[in-house]
Amino acid sequence: MRLNLKKFLCENKGNIISSINIVLIFSFILVGFLVLETSTYINNNKISEINDNNFEYIIENYKANVPVLSLEIINETSRNIINNKNPLSNCRIELKNRINQKLNEENRKYYNNYKITIVSEVLDVYNDENPFNINVKIRLNFTKDDKSYSSEDTYKISVVGLYDPLPFLKCRDIQVENDKINYKNSLKNYLNEKTNGEINTEPYINGKSPLIIKECSYQDYTSHGTNGLCENCILNGYYHESRDGSCYLCRMEGYGNCSHYGFETFIVPGILTEDNRSIVSIDHVIFGENPYPGDIIILNNTSSDSDFIFLENGHKSKYGFI
Ligand SMILES: [Zn+2]
Ligand SMILES: [Zn+2]
Repeated sequence: MRLNLKKFLCENKGNIISSINIVLIFSFILVGFLVLETSTYINNNKISEINDNNFEYIIENYKANVPVLSLEIINETSRNIINNKNPLSNCRIELKNRINQKLNEENRKYYNNYKITIVSEVLDVYNDENPFNINVKIRLNFTKDDKSYSSEDTYKISVVGLYDPLPFLKCRDIQVENDKINYKNSLKNYLNEKTNGEINTEPYINGKSPLIIKECSYQDYTSHGTNGLCENCILNGYYHESRDGSCYLCRMEGYGNCSHYGFETFIVPGILTEDNRSIVSIDHVIFGENPYPGDIIILNNTSSDSDFIFLENGHKSKYGFI
């Protein structure tokens, strides 16, 4: 029997191998078919997921993108003002229109991708209680098949990290040096004109101020007068909340002062002269209607010639120098 089986295997070797091949090929076809089926199933599943609901998911996604796009528009607008040296005449209306336009483009994309109809309207662009934010109020309506959703939301857009357009609108010949602005001779000339040459403005040759809006981290402002904090603040290019300083929106219109709660920064003189008095080194004083003088404050006893500022009593007390 054993011999017979061996004989049978030897004689039918070819047939057995081809049978195995057929089984293998069939298995491959089966596996391939199963893989194909599964992936079709997964794809169908994805499509039905989007079709069904994801109405809510799409709304959330769209809403999360609104502040990102608004910031993009504010940033772009501010950069244009700086490049063209041209202030906006009504920045709130202008931003409202530009954000509207951007959202309309977005709405078209959403319609093409998800067949969802979005109607958006920017109702207002206005100041927040926190001067480092701008409020953008938007009405939205989403419709898909028999589902619809409406909302009215106010988005707080932070201006921290944006360029300060004001110096570029007040002085023409200025130079950007990393995160600072060097006014070269332009600030001295600007102040001479403003004050009719009655105050020594020489110290402001090569004066410097920050390029980018940053909120001062020394929240108790009176601490600036001690432990070299004021120098660190100047080095970091910080801005401080201020009732007299202009807000970001009014800076885009070229105003050094405004009626809104705004912010102020130090403009640090570049040249130490014999005179102990010059214009106060705060941007809303320098770029305001009537720049007024203050007393010299030496911040550091080392030889660096830019470690001094001029302040009058009001700002001396705000920053803890008296
Ligand atoms: Zn500070
Ligand atoms: Zn303002």
